[in-house]
Amino acid sequence: MLCEPDARRYPLIDYAIFADTQEEPASVYRHLEWLKRQKGPPILVRTAGRLGDQLIHGRDGKGGRFASIPAYTRGPHGRIGMTRRQCTSEAKMEACNKTIRYELLGLKPRQRVPRGMIVRQHFGISCDEAGRAERAKKRFEKQKWTKPVYPLIEMGWSRKDCLAFLKDRVPHEVPKSACVFCPYKSN
Ligand code: SF4
Repeated sequence: MLCEPDARRYPLIDYAIFADTQEEPASVYRHLEWLKRQKGPPILVRTAGRLGDQLIHGRDGKGGRFASIPAYTRGPHGRIGMTRRQCTSEAKMEACNKTIRYELLGLKPRQRVPRGMIVRQHFGISCDEAGRAERAKKRFEKQKWTKPVYPLIEMGWSRKDCLAFLKDRVPHEVPKSACVFCPYKSN
């Protein structure tokens, strides 16, 4: 049986950040609009540009190197491969990092986060993706000012548990967030 998340352990967050690749399915944007109308924390929607445009033009929004998606490739002898994934770090993590550093903490580029300041960053990674959480934890080992928190994993919740929790709280099916062309998705 699911227990309500403990409000003492998981106090209300100050801000939510939606790093928008501008390539989510319509159901995700509808859900985002619904979320914004609830009495929750402010949702900051930030983007590093439209991912699909960058892929087509081979450049990011500022003319620099574009963030590649993990696209499937076929070599000259028919061998299947995959290109390096840069989209998550550039289109999502960097967009979140910049929002936290410049907008929320008011830092200048390259300015250090003041000693002792800690930002608790919550990630909605469920138990089905524990490996993803481990990789994320490693990334934050060197970033001492961030304390990553994984409430779903700490509570032992799977994606199925999340859907059960949301069923009577949200008037529509909560969609999965991912770019429409993400190669990690099945048809
Ligand atoms: S959903 Fe897929 S294509 Fe989009 S940013 Fe994530 S990994 Fe890249």
